[in-house]
Amino acid sequence: MQGETIRSVRELDVLARRVFVRVDFNVPIEGGKVVDDTRIRETIPTLRHLLAREARVVIASHLGRPKGRDQKHSMEPAAQRLAELMDVEVLLADDCIGDGPKKIIGELREGQIACLENLRFHPGEEANDEGFARELAKLADVYVNDAFGAAHRAHASVAALPRLFRERGSGLLLEKEISALSRIRDEAEHPFVAVLGGAKVSDKIGVIEALLNKVDVLVIGGAMANTFLAAKGLAMGKSLVESDRLALARTLLARAEERGVRVVLPEDLVVATSPEAEGGRITSPELVGPEEMALDVGPRTLESIGKAIENARTVFWNGPMGLFEKPPFAKGTEAVAKCIAQLQGAFTVVGGGDSAAAVHAVGLAHRFSHVSTGGGAALEFIEGRKLPGIEALRS
Ligand code: ADP
Ligand code: MG
Repeated sequence: MQGETIRSVRELDVLARRVFVRVDFNVPIEGGKVVDDTRIRETIPTLRHLLAREARVVIASHLGRPKGRDQKHSMEPAAQRLAELMDVEVLLADDCIGDGPKKIIGELREGQIACLENLRFHPGEEANDEGFARELAKLADVYVNDAFGAAHRAHASVAALPRLFRERGSGLLLEKEISALSRIRDEAEHPFVAVLGGAKVSDKIGVIEALLNKVDVLVIGGAMANTFLAAKGLAMGKSLVESDRLALARTLLARAEERGVRVVLPEDLVVATSPEAEGGRITSPELVGPEEMALDVGPRTLESIGKAIENARTVFWNGPMGLFEKPPFAKGTEAVAKCIAQLQGAFTVVGGGDSAAAVHAVGLAHRFSHVSTGGGAALEFIEGRKLPGIEALRS
């Protein structure tokens, strides 16, 4: 039902009440430590808002893909990182439902936060099970969703659970995500340039189709560009190409032409015979050798991308320009990050797990209008799909 409003945590009656906050602490962990704490940092404004109102804060998240209970996927490192970042005590429950969490929440003292154990330790989470949601609901009086990265999943803690609360709404991060991505989806100022890259066309068909109705220029890089170049009849050697998507790529190019959208494809590429190579050679897309693979965009392409972006009022970027995890093939992605970061007065948004990580890695996140914490969720939002975690908050 359209038009139903989503209340902000600022409008909810949280004073001294138990507040369940669904956070997205699905963060990378290595050797028992959180290696990228962006998502944790981003929820702090909501948690501080609640603590300042003497709420008894209960946070819950999933982490990874555990098969049942599994200490490797414990929330412990994330809870500990939150405690360090906020300088508050975070008490980790031994489970997410039952007597353990009840006891911890019952004994919470002012300023402390209770963290439930990984929601995915119970199959009811991914099954969106009502009974599991009712067990979670027993732990709180108010529900807040601040987990944009999980909002596209119809899982119990984001879909079934909020409907069990009269007092429910969005956290400050979720609000920020909805506001920035709505501006891209519904009211982008022109010129509007979308830069798309990453691994596969097939992951992004929906978003490409949606963007073709909105943008003036579509820049295509990364492995995705290989499929478009192959669709134009070029031999791409051993490059990552989705050979079952060539017809689709041709259809998308034709549609772009119909709508007057200028498509910028690589004019030169960095190629090598293996992703492990210490460096590559720069060549034109027509001259990729049979044993070579395209692993980054070349300098001429970067110049064209720079020109395409230069006068943009709105830029949306998803997907790295190359195999950026390997330093010899990271130049294109870094250059695009810098180029977008430099724009003055434009509204610039990055969405996508890997592209956001690339922007953080080069220290430019603060120079973007918005860096989304959602990968799949951001793309589905821009496509215009309804996200279960957002719909469930309407009242
Ligand atoms: P995002 O998470 O930002 O949406 P994707 O998941 O679609 O991006 O794609 C990211 C992956 O694509 C990265 O692992 C990157 O190394 C890979 N990639 C990009 N370009 C290439 C390429 N030319 N060859 C191989 N892999 C590539
Ligand atoms: Mg990704």
